[in-house]
Amino acid sequence: MNQQQEISAKENSADFSTTQQECRNGNAAEHQLSKKEQFLLKCTKHQDIMIYKKRYQVGDSVLIKTTNQIEQIGLILNFYGYHQDDKTIVPLVEVQWYCTYQDLADSIDKDSFSECELFLTEQTTIIFIDCIQAKCFVMNIDEFENTGTQNAYFTRSKYNTLTKQLEPPISQWKKVCICEQPQNPDLLYIQCDQCNKWFHLSCMGLTQEQANQMEQYSCKICKK
Ligand SMILES: [Zn+2]
Ligand SMILES: [Zn+2]
Repeated sequence: MNQQQEISAKENSADFSTTQQECRNGNAAEHQLSKKEQFLLKCTKHQDIMIYKKRYQVGDSVLIKTTNQIEQIGLILNFYGYHQDDKTIVPLVEVQWYCTYQDLADSIDKDSFSECELFLTEQTTIIFIDCIQAKCFVMNIDEFENTGTQNAYFTRSKYNTLTKQLEPPISQWKKVCICEQPQNPDLLYIQCDQCNKWFHLSCMGLTQEQANQMEQYSCKICKK
């Protein structure tokens, strides 16, 4: 998540950023409720909710649009009804943010990522429910390659924004082709009919047209 997105997410959220500091300054012997605990006392928790006739549940991934029009994908952790007073209940949602490869630290090599790839971060925010725009589908890479679903994404690592590390790291991702690069659904592949392995068209020196015309294909290794 870049800084701009972080600021935008905070603008329409219940802000608990001072919570930890206040706890530290408080009297340790006497149990003090954190800002979040105080907030939760005024809330009812819900497992699902209807928005414009669509049902959203805890565990769904959703496209979120914050007030300054930045779109980001989040995983729903909780729905809250915040009882502001006797008459007003404010519907809120707690999300855990996904980021894209563009949000990863500069030290991480960005060559092998897909435009449809997400990384779940440890960052969470509570925001108004009307920030939810649509349901998204975050799957593993093999499911993703076989789906025609709209709003589909895949994930193969989480990203810790504090340590700036992917878990599992890229070195543990499944590699393909003779170039031994991580799978990337954005690129064009051909499957060898002998070894059943997948190869980049570019690494096999093929155009898409040539590949489409082939009924059988033997990769460079099997041909030898
Ligand atoms: Zn290759
Ligand atoms: Zn082969």
